[in-house]
Amino acid sequence: MLSSKALFRMALLMVVLYACGTSQPARRNVLSRTSPPANQKPANPDNNRNPNQTTFTKPEQITTRKPPEERPVVNTKVERREEPETDNTAANTSAGYRSPAFYRNITDSIQRVAAKPSYYKITENLFKEMAVVPNPKNPAVNSQWYTTVNFDARKPNYVILHHTAQTSAEQTLFTFSISRTSVSAHFVVGRDGITYQMLNEYMRAWHAGRSKWGSITDMNSCSIGIEIDNNGTEPFSDAQISSLIKLLGYLRDKFGIPQSNFIGHSDIAPVRKNDPSKYFPWKRLADAGFGYWYDSTNLAEPPADFNALLALRVIGYDITTPASAIQSFKLHFIQNDSSPMLTDYDKKVLYNVYRKY
Ligand SMILES: [Zn+2]
Repeated sequence: MLSSKALFRMALLMVVLYACGTSQPARRNVLSRTSPPANQKPANPDNNRNPNQTTFTKPEQITTRKPPEERPVVNTKVERREEPETDNTAANTSAGYRSPAFYRNITDSIQRVAAKPSYYKITENLFKEMAVVPNPKNPAVNSQWYTTVNFDARKPNYVILHHTAQTSAEQTLFTFSISRTSVSAHFVVGRDGITYQMLNEYMRAWHAGRSKWGSITDMNSCSIGIEIDNNGTEPFSDAQISSLIKLLGYLRDKFGIPQSNFIGHSDIAPVRKNDPSKYFPWKRLADAGFGYWYDSTNLAEPPADFNALLALRVIGYDITTPASAIQSFKLHFIQNDSSPMLTDYDKKVLYNVYRKY
């Protein structure tokens, strides 16, 4: 039989072990810098619910999250903020170089104690909101509730490609794991070809920011965001592009995304963004069926009355600032010339691409 002294020692040992496993200084530093959300939504949307309203099965019964006993029990605030006006991820987190190992360690800790519990809570609240109809705040509906039985989830119809402008995939995983950056993407593709998924495809990531393509002004709502690990001044590795093409094939098949709808961040935000960079192999992607490329061996001469700006508009570019639209087009299709003017050759390329739409 154990003496009371031995029992006391065991208890002391357990306390020490627990403390070692849950309080690493690096994690504490980062989390202490996390500011509270500016416009946090009510944690419990049930508070606003009409008492006569019928609700569906509890969301936790239809999600595939881990059983409760596997989840860490931490006191984590659920943060749902609108995306910021600017979304320069690098500017938010690049206070000097940090090694991938540093970011890996700190991100693993953050994921365990904060990011994953928040993810479950946010999805739970979203499911609760989506399962209720009519919306009690909608003054336009004043009848009793009739439901349809014919529906499914909305699907993404675009894929927006980015380069991270950061130094490692680990840094980007960190950036998307903390709330103060207010940026995210569904996937991150590392230089080594490792592909990470951070968000379910049916959810809306915060990667596009202020943007426009055709008449669509909320690209986040209709797109998948893919961040490609690259600092913006270097070529993309073969392993990385191979993995990316594999991922794009999966998304195309799953959601029926048309070839024209694989585009870059700079395409949809001409004034603000220049990613992916001129090193991005758009032709290789187009050869694999993702995005369009011109027929370089058979560039037809455009007609005398060819209107280049209208052609850009037909493709999807926002031509509010014509020089920026031209630069975005050239970053994608000409790449080695960033001037805001279209040469005769550029116009031929544009005409060729335009005719594919
Ligand atoms: Zn971007």
